[in-house]
Amino acid sequence: MRAPSDRELYYDRPGWPAVDPAHTFKELCLSLAAYDWTTLAAATLAESYRAFNVGALLVAHDPPTSRIGTYCGGNIKRLPGPDPDKICAERVALRKARAAGYPLVIGLAVIGPYQPDQESSRESRTLHPCGECRREFASASEMTPDTLFATHRLGEEPVIMERFTLEWLLREYCVADN
Ligand SMILES: [Zn+2]
Repeated sequence: MRAPSDRELYYDRPGWPAVDPAHTFKELCLSLAAYDWTTLAAATLAESYRAFNVGALLVAHDPPTSRIGTYCGGNIKRLPGPDPDKICAERVALRKARAAGYPLVIGLAVIGPYQPDQESSRESRTLHPCGECRREFASASEMTPDTLFATHRLGEEPVIMERFTLEWLLREYCVADN
């Protein structure tokens, strides 16, 4: 199985109306492509000692140039207990977009097996970004209150999907704004 690749796209065409990034992301996360892509990221990029494989697909935008980039990530936790390399799929994708110079994250699609939130024990229908991710997102200059999340539950038929904004996520889990 081939790992998904990060891509950079130019959506503007001469004479075409400017792209609405939120609309583009909505289309993307509604399409099966995002589901398949995040599934592929979980299957090929994640490294989990307990087979808790999570995949993420982030869509970033650079308004001045109309560049749109898609970045994939898988979670890394190779050891039980403390693992210095531990990182979530969402933050892998965010760091790639940041390294590529994108000032804005439009949205993140995530797929993973389900577990309740480990910090708050809050139950949900899909895997939500964890406490460490929430705090990083709250202070990330690329994220806005409108940054969209589409979370999918791995291995369920029919597919369970939740959608929410960063504003909802931070409010729901009581993360203070930085
Ligand atoms: Zn996390």
